[in-house]
Amino acid sequence: MDWLIGLAGSIIVAGLAYRKKSLTQSGALAAIVMGTVYYGSGSLIWFGLLLTFFITSTIWSKWNKRKKIRFDHIYEKTGERDAYQVMANGGLGMLLCVCNAIVPHPGWLLSFAGVMATVNADTWATEIGSLSRSMPRSLLTGKRVPAGTSGAISTIGTIATLLGAATIGAAAVICLYIAADPAFSIPYQWGLLLVIGISGAIGGVVGAFTDSYLGATIQAAYHCEKCAANTERTAHCGQPTALVKGFRWMTNDIVNGVSSVVGGVAAWVLGILWL
Ligand SMILES: [Zn+2]
Repeated sequence: MDWLIGLAGSIIVAGLAYRKKSLTQSGALAAIVMGTVYYGSGSLIWFGLLLTFFITSTIWSKWNKRKKIRFDHIYEKTGERDAYQVMANGGLGMLLCVCNAIVPHPGWLLSFAGVMATVNADTWATEIGSLSRSMPRSLLTGKRVPAGTSGAISTIGTIATLLGAATIGAAAVICLYIAADPAFSIPYQWGLLLVIGISGAIGGVVGAFTDSYLGATIQAAYHCEKCAANTERTAHCGQPTALVKGFRWMTNDIVNGVSSVVGGVAAWVLGILWL
């Protein structure tokens, strides 16, 4: 029954997102599979955090969209999320969800909170930080760099990172409270709920800064010889771009995936030390 509810709910959410052009067709299909697994094999906390991420990041990406169009030529992908992006954002969480269904342990949930806090913080930082009026600074050198440069951080983007991570932490506490997750068998113990929420949020901040650091160091960056733009794209102005930094295989999706792992491990270690 849970699987059917999950499937129905996921079809509605993914269908709306597809109609609103937040997901491509492949992205919507991946989201349906993911939502169904999250709901069917987990409990409210898994689906709830995925939904919190999905809804808030969609709202921010639609917010002030016109001002952000100037970044479209820089980012590897924009607007509609495809299956790769959906998996880069939610695939690791799905794996943790399945692991927890097979071998229940609070560590999975701690990691999951850290993973979702990472992707949420990162998305908020990108969407909100791109509206910053001042030029961001490179995380490595502290020097001002053009807006949209991967690994660059701004004050407003950093605040968005902290709030994005905190939102997932708060959502975790609320979902656990509502669902009285049987995986914990000691529901309504505020101390435990807060440890998970706070560890998740801190893990998210660690993961998001890992994302910026990798973005500034080994993520592939390209240069368009024709228009002199720095971009994440392998082609620009109808011709191939030149690699100027990082590894060709270290795409934005890979950086997001690695950062999620770091955020999840950080939350797990912190939570286990704390408990
Ligand atoms: Zn160009």
